[in-house]
Amino acid sequence: MDAPLDLPRLKVRFGTGWDLCNFDCDYCVTHQPIGDNTDEPASLPVLIRLSKNITNPVAIAQKVASIGRKLTGSSGASEPAQWDEQKYLNVIERFGELPYAMDVRIGVGGETFINKTVVEGARRLSNHANTMAVNLISNLSFSFPQYEKIFRGFNLDKLALVCSFHPTEIKDVDRWIETARLMNGVVDLAIVLVAWPPLMAEMKQSKARLEAEGLEVFVQAFHGWHEEKKFPESYSQADRELLGEVFYSEHDYAHMVDLKQPGKCYAGVDYVYIDINGNLSRCGTYKTPMGNLFQDFQLMKSPTACPGTECWCDTENLNTVEFRETYQLVGLNQHRYHRRD
Ligand code: SF4
Ligand code: SF4
Repeated sequence: MDAPLDLPRLKVRFGTGWDLCNFDCDYCVTHQPIGDNTDEPASLPVLIRLSKNITNPVAIAQKVASIGRKLTGSSGASEPAQWDEQKYLNVIERFGELPYAMDVRIGVGGETFINKTVVEGARRLSNHANTMAVNLISNLSFSFPQYEKIFRGFNLDKLALVCSFHPTEIKDVDRWIETARLMNGVVDLAIVLVAWPPLMAEMKQSKARLEAEGLEVFVQAFHGWHEEKKFPESYSQADRELLGEVFYSEHDYAHMVDLKQPGKCYAGVDYVYIDINGNLSRCGTYKTPMGNLFQDFQLMKSPTACPGTECWCDTENLNTVEFRETYQLVGLNQHRYHRRD
């Protein structure tokens, strides 16, 4: 994966604000009061974790400071960061003017391919001379011939796709797997399984079945509430052992299941979160403002400590110094990496 025109690489998660979907998964992140983002104080999971740490004053002080930083960061936005077709296309166009080799994940809270403008922006981005990679996420609910039509005009050499396998919503699993197999021949594809408690029993078989088709598969911990229990904190010992077997890397497990303290991070240095208004933040979790794409922005010079205590965005925890020292990205796809020897 060479940087176009020898430009420095800039990884971006572009938060588009698009949040409509043709599926309705019980465990969807858009239905969940995740982590510290909940606005219902009675159910704040952080309070539950704090009560478990009641004998550890350092952990309590860190968590309280972390919440404060999140609230400070999110209160400064003057315009709502909601989906807007023209703003979306403007941001895409601006990416093409930046003096960076752009590696952009187009972030949606719904389904990418049911929005023609999201797709059109991705197509344009894949054709920019300074684009290194376009990462998309999808539930893969269309047929292969439909995707062939959608991808007309794309530069597929720059496209990577993460498709989530949602067995509760997919009507014909055999057909879905066949579509994934065919898609794997035309784009850099990875499949994600969500470790939602009711799906745990079939997790190993689902993963093995998909891998038997030559697909790259990773498992994501469930973050949210199920039967009045907060996950990932409520995984049983047996669940944790199973997750240890199916997780892609020790790094994923440490951050997504054990909620490990992130430490130093490159977010803000060669990775940023950008919203639909062009506002830059260090990352999408802790929205430390860094300027605006259409005015001025400053990247940080070197990695510094994470302002929070947890990083549970699976795209963003790959920016930690620890990750880069231990793993190496080996493809366009943000989920294709190997442990360094
Ligand atoms: S497919 Fe994804 S975005 Fe759509 S409901 Fe399921 S989890 Fe949510
Ligand atoms: S570790 Fe995660 S939450 Fe912390 S700064 Fe980096 S990307 Fe943001």
